[in-house]
Amino acid sequence: MKKGQKLTIGGVQALLFPMAVMNITQGNNEGTHLGTNALDNAGKDTGIDPVFAPCDMRLVAWDSYAAGNAVFFVSTQKVRFRDGTIDYAVIMIIHDNYIGDILALGKNYVFKQGEEFGDEGTAGRASGNHVHIEIAKGTYTHMYDKNAYGVYHLPRNISADLAFFTDGTTIKNKGGFKNWATSAAVSQSQATQTKKTNEVIAAEVIAGKWGSGSDRKSKLTKAGYDYNAIQKLVNEKLSGKKTISQIASEVIAGKWGNGSNRTARLKKAGYDPAAVQKEVNRILG
Ligand SMILES: [Zn+2]
Repeated sequence: MKKGQKLTIGGVQALLFPMAVMNITQGNNEGTHLGTNALDNAGKDTGIDPVFAPCDMRLVAWDSYAAGNAVFFVSTQKVRFRDGTIDYAVIMIIHDNYIGDILALGKNYVFKQGEEFGDEGTAGRASGNHVHIEIAKGTYTHMYDKNAYGVYHLPRNISADLAFFTDGTTIKNKGGFKNWATSAAVSQSQATQTKKTNEVIAAEVIAGKWGSGSDRKSKLTKAGYDYNAIQKLVNEKLSGKKTISQIASEVIAGKWGNGSNRTARLKKAGYDPAAVQKEVNRILG
């Protein structure tokens, strides 16, 4: 992410990778991260890059300089993870040389998404400026668990590429992580995946492949499809209007504006704003 960047998807703030340049020098289950999910990010060069709040968050705990000045934050509300989960997030950052500025603001201060709060550094036993990042789903419980390899880690941490969207981040080295993605890439793949099934089946119904009346209903139900949803699509197609899922994709692409403006435009065009929103939420799921 870039400084000041915000991302909200379907009304839920989405986690952003907390640095402008991704240059991962050590990932999950490697070296000092044995048996756990963690990454070391060295930023654009050997110097010290700032770290930004991946979501609105509050300080909940911190550790000594010798322990790397670890700082722990929890999101102020449930946030969207890159894997689609909506939950609280706990974020741990280590190696900032000075955290007195963070501690001075205290536990009630809300760091807004995109706000600069930390830096790369070498506090603790770091060799070379970097930031060690761990992230977990759920609310804060305690600072560390120790695993079978003797590695202290954030409890319940998950792979960072399933947590952060990479919008605004320049990827220099993505490390061994396979699932980094921007919000646009994620919603596009979800949209095509979910749309295809309903659309294809509805087209088949219109082509007569599923019979009619109660025969059609029982065939579709037996095959595991939602008869009512398919029938609704069929009716929409036959009426010449766009389907709810087509409109939902357009909404996600920003073609229908936001808030009350969107609602008014959808109504005027003959669509049910609540049904469209429901489909948008389902796609972004
Ligand atoms: Zn590390």
